[in-house]
Amino acid sequence: MAAFADIIIDISAPTLDRSFQYEVPAELRERAEVGSPVLVPFGGGNTLRKGYIVGLSDEPKIALEKIKPIADIPKRDLSIEDSLVALAYRIKRRYGGSLYDALRTVIPSRQKIASVPKRKVRRVMSKDRLAEMLESVSRRETAKARLYGALLETEEIPYELVTGKLKITKAALTKAQDEGILTVAELDETVNEPGAGLTVTLNDEQQAAADTIAKSLGTGGVFVLHGITGSGKTEVYLSVIERTLAEGRQVIVLIPEIALTYQTVLRFYRCFGDRVAFVHSKMPAGERYRMRERAKEGRISIMIGPRSALFTPFPDLGLIIVDEEHETSYRSELTPRYHAVDVAVERAHMCGATVVLGSATPSLETFYRCEKGEYQLLTLSKRAKDGAVLPKSEIVDLREELKAKNFSVISRRLRAAIEDRLAKHEQVMLFLNRRGYAGFVSCRSCGYIAQCPHCDISLTYHNDGTLRCHYCGHRVPYQKTCPECGSEYFLPFGKSGTQKIEELVEKEFPKARVLRMDADTTKAADDYEAILSEFAEGKGDILIGTQMIVKGHDFPKVTLVGALAADLSLGVAEYSCAERTFDLLAQAAGRAGRDRIPGEVIIQTYRPDHYAITAAAASDYRSFYDTEIRYRQSFGYPPVRHMLTIVGGHRREDTLEKAMGELAAKTREVAENAGAVVIGPALPQMHKKNDMFFRAIYVKCRDIELLIAVKDAAEQWMHEARGGVGLTFDMD
Ligand code: ADP
Ligand code: ZN
Ligand code: ZN
Repeated sequence: MAAFADIIIDISAPTLDRSFQYEVPAELRERAEVGSPVLVPFGGGNTLRKGYIVGLSDEPKIALEKIKPIADIPKRDLSIEDSLVALAYRIKRRYGGSLYDALRTVIPSRQKIASVPKRKVRRVMSKDRLAEMLESVSRRETAKARLYGALLETEEIPYELVTGKLKITKAALTKAQDEGILTVAELDETVNEPGAGLTVTLNDEQQAAADTIAKSLGTGGVFVLHGITGSGKTEVYLSVIERTLAEGRQVIVLIPEIALTYQTVLRFYRCFGDRVAFVHSKMPAGERYRMRERAKEGRISIMIGPRSALFTPFPDLGLIIVDEEHETSYRSELTPRYHAVDVAVERAHMCGATVVLGSATPSLETFYRCEKGEYQLLTLSKRAKDGAVLPKSEIVDLREELKAKNFSVISRRLRAAIEDRLAKHEQVMLFLNRRGYAGFVSCRSCGYIAQCPHCDISLTYHNDGTLRCHYCGHRVPYQKTCPECGSEYFLPFGKSGTQKIEELVEKEFPKARVLRMDADTTKAADDYEAILSEFAEGKGDILIGTQMIVKGHDFPKVTLVGALAADLSLGVAEYSCAERTFDLLAQAAGRAGRDRIPGEVIIQTYRPDHYAITAAAASDYRSFYDTEIRYRQSFGYPPVRHMLTIVGGHRREDTLEKAMGELAAKTREVAENAGAVVIGPALPQMHKKNDMFFRAIYVKCRDIELLIAVKDAAEQWMHEARGGVGLTFDMD
């Protein structure tokens, strides 16, 4: 038991870099743990202040007589702040990085809060008159159309939603006010409007799911709501949220930022009124801080937002919902690289809350836990709206197009289908599942992809004429003839961008109105919503884009979805690329035929027999899962085993190679006897950036505790070796 403790006094101070050493009196040593709240004498009058232990040691860092003893380590119930610090500590332990990084993730620094009056935008013009005005709004005036549309759906909207999510300028509001369309009313901050509650009657499946989840409120539990797109998962959430609020507890709803459209926001707002608040990452820090304070004071009960909303300081959290739980955006890219789904389960466990993980395509990890009985599976198997059915899917073999001398990215079958929809004035979405990485090598004649024999992931083409594995370093010389069929079309996949496709589509369908959505056309914060609204309002016939366009948006008039090159995401050099491909195709299929007109999906691919593609075309999650989990099993990838990735970076390649070689040897010593597999050092996916070089070591093992020990040892080694090699860790 340690004799000294490093303590931070004020966790919400803007700089957290200062800790103070205190002595731990013998009688308190048993209770002194990293993360424990303490009372310590601090400052001039030695007044007692609350602090937290962030480190323990046996050595004094300053003169002994200057070290004061800790006054107390309270045993009572943890406050919300205490439990968030405890959560930060668990995050640090599992995902690495410093406790400071973890604390900053969980508890943002204090901000000045401007007092903002509570305001609402209220429609005063009659519905009919406004609907008429909406008709005459020109194609260019998208902001106006959004505003009118929103006011027709909801009579009263919080001012921040209108200026924020809806992106209506103050000038436009003033103008609309002058035209007698709306008023802006200031309201009493303390009065909450209740909202209208649930408006639809749940169907049997929805009701059964909601009831099962509701039974666990109070005791806790983790549920996986597996429902095809359009099956009404959101209505199930709303029902369970209502029951949680009725018990006086609070709710966190995580939604990927890109799916947090104003339609979604309004749906929750209509149901729960002012008790619901929204955060998003582009919100100013002060505004987000104000939301947290309101949550702490109990003035709001539902927080909706991307992964950071998970740390809302609700005093009696009863329910955490993670919608689209398979989304990669739930994994943080910053240290600590935590996974919001796992942390949600952890936080819920600490306070007896229930977790609902919703998805049409649950992540392998999540479904694996259902299979093992750790999570309870609930299924919604049909579309909720009357008459809405799942679309028909068809696979087009691009190898046949090549044989028929059609070198266009659009197959004959897809072209005919597009022409048909254009003639019927229905809408089309074309998507390219490019994930920002090219370089894998595939045969355009037979579909063969160059793969590593040791890791079973794609090899990547390098300019020195080699193909390399980014997991184990395996390399072979590149040759132009396909090793499978001998054709001369065995080529690296370049970046065939959406812009090129847009030009081509405009040429082939000169009468169609084409919209494009990708990273280039959506530079500003909410551009993507503007494009989506334009499309939703029927101001385009064909929408072309990257995976952005397939996520959680409702377009009733879209009856055809084309996946242009389904293989692109199969070539990504990661063990999870089949899963990503399946997700994208299944989500894309979910966009077609949301209303009464049945939809059609055309999947173009060089690998029509790949299980990710056939299962997606058949909307068969189960068969995809069964095949994929066997693959993970035989190669020891997560979720069957845990995998720790250690990435080292340094400006000098030789220094880095030497250091990572040593670390790998040391890791082998520690881990291999205990049954872990150590791979590397190898070139990671991104192995050079800004003149920094990178190498990766992979450690696979069933026992996560062993991996945590490996990570801690590597961190320790990094501090001692001082070679200047920076390490980052990634668990699973
Ligand atoms: P998901 O989130 O599972 O993709 P949604 O919750 O968005 O599905 O629901 C899809 C559509 O079905 C929505 O327009 C919703 O209003 C409607 N819907 C959901 N449940 C019902 C129900 N019980 N009766 C009628 N319509 C419903
Ligand atoms: Zn071939
Ligand atoms: Zn390999």
